[in-house]
Amino acid sequence: MTEYQQLAALLFPHVTETVDDLERRFPPRELKEGARVTRFAPSPTGFLHIGGLFSALISKLNAATTNGLFLLRIEDTDKKREITDGVSEIIRGLSAFGVDIDEGVIGFEKETGDYDPYQQSRRAAIYHVVAKKLVEEGLAYPCFCTEAELTAIREKQEALSFDTKGYYGEWAVYRDTPFETQKQLLSAGKPWTLRLRSPGDPEKRVAYDDLIKGRIEMPENIQDVVRLKQDGIPTYHFAHAVDDHFMRVTHVVRGDEWIASVPLHIQLFKVCGFRLPKYAHIAPIMKEDNGGKRKLSKRKDPEAAVTYYAEQGYPKESVLEYLLTLANSNFEDWRRANPTAPQSAFPFNLKKMSTSGALFDLDKLNDVSKNVISVMDAQTVLDKTLDWAKDYDSQLYELLSADPDRSRALFSIDRGGKKPRKDLAKWSEVKDYFSYCFDALFETSLAELPENITPDLAVAVLDAYEAAYDPADDKEQWFERIKALCAPLGCTPNVKEYKQNPDAFKGHVGDLSTVIRVAVTGRRNTPDLFSILQILGEDAVRERLRSARAAFDQ
Ligand code: GLU
Repeated sequence: MTEYQQLAALLFPHVTETVDDLERRFPPRELKEGARVTRFAPSPTGFLHIGGLFSALISKLNAATTNGLFLLRIEDTDKKREITDGVSEIIRGLSAFGVDIDEGVIGFEKETGDYDPYQQSRRAAIYHVVAKKLVEEGLAYPCFCTEAELTAIREKQEALSFDTKGYYGEWAVYRDTPFETQKQLLSAGKPWTLRLRSPGDPEKRVAYDDLIKGRIEMPENIQDVVRLKQDGIPTYHFAHAVDDHFMRVTHVVRGDEWIASVPLHIQLFKVCGFRLPKYAHIAPIMKEDNGGKRKLSKRKDPEAAVTYYAEQGYPKESVLEYLLTLANSNFEDWRRANPTAPQSAFPFNLKKMSTSGALFDLDKLNDVSKNVISVMDAQTVLDKTLDWAKDYDSQLYELLSADPDRSRALFSIDRGGKKPRKDLAKWSEVKDYFSYCFDALFETSLAELPENITPDLAVAVLDAYEAAYDPADDKEQWFERIKALCAPLGCTPNVKEYKQNPDAFKGHVGDLSTVIRVAVTGRRNTPDLFSILQILGEDAVRERLRSARAAFDQ
């Protein structure tokens, strides 16, 4: 046995499996040529950020468009930063937005797929197999430095104004420690971390082709980085190499804060003898702030948390549709050309992603969402509103579920035709949007009348309309009846005529409708008035006409 092999046996006495065993246990996947295996690998350290959902979606699309596979791995090696329910938050967040996984963690200690475990805290044995092999080959060694010693090294480097700080070259105190000394320190029970014996050359550079950012060149890694911490838990870097290799991930999509670590990752994959995956680094989602741009912040922006969208009642389709507009600049053109196609039909392309960070804009999300909701049928809108209201607005839930046919009729107004109305962006707007349709919500304060309509004229319009009103009218008859009221009131049924000669009339037919609309709904602007009158029913209509008359008569 070589000294390296003896050292490995001392460091990992319980490891009996070999890397070859792992290669057999997790064989290359049998997928079609060109199929990509991608993953989302969050740490359960806080709520799911919209940027996390975005990157999961990109990974998912990257797999789905190539008939590949998308998996969820939980990176929970930092137990100190983990939050209660962190894992279920992630799972709930992904599934609420339909970013479904093919493999990985699906619940508390529940997983699906053959490349398990998918939770890093349960993979210690796997990391140790690889670590042992590296020690046997002289590519890793134990470092017995205490925190204080490491700080002292750093302080010395700072005092000497060294450009490159850290544990490397001559600063790597335990890199060349003789085996006899290592043995003594180990038998004395001195705690150790496992470090990479970096083969990096400070004179050399390394380059790779990022699928989003293009070719990137950086200096080689020369640091003898920690691979296993004192408790035997791997660092992110080591776990990344081992997991993405043995889960047979082909494409790593992650935040661009990891770009600086790529030279290290290239080196790690190489010393482990693993094939390097392709990398695609996503720029963070940005927000406009005081004329500048900044990252969407967990602290300052409520919309950074994906729970915000559920609470507000944005349909998941809208959020995904919006994220797609951020993902690929050609998505909107595609959508215009294919208004009813499912999102999955969009030919997503990593190369068309913004390299500097897409700008998040709630107004834009609202516009996108209005479009998405406008093409849903009334039953879908009702079901989704009820689903939302069940959790967030019990009054609305009760009002809508008390008479489902009436509620469906409400949501049917101005829906289904060629030019559907685009008013609603989220379910939390429904209550206010239709408040006048429910006595419990109807506010009797009335919107202002058009400038040319005096209160006297309004009173006369309402008197005449109430006398003429026949709930049995169809839409055409109804409108003819309003037109017929015009002349006796000094108005014209012809808007054009009014515009040509405004002094000759008190108003036009549109003004009459507005007076009736304001009286019945309190508002100047509503969906189709005739439909609203039908849904409200004769009694409510007459009552509102009378009380509005009284208000205008004061
Ligand atoms: N756990 C890492 C993070 O949350 C994952 C990075 C990666 O996707 O590799 O930032």
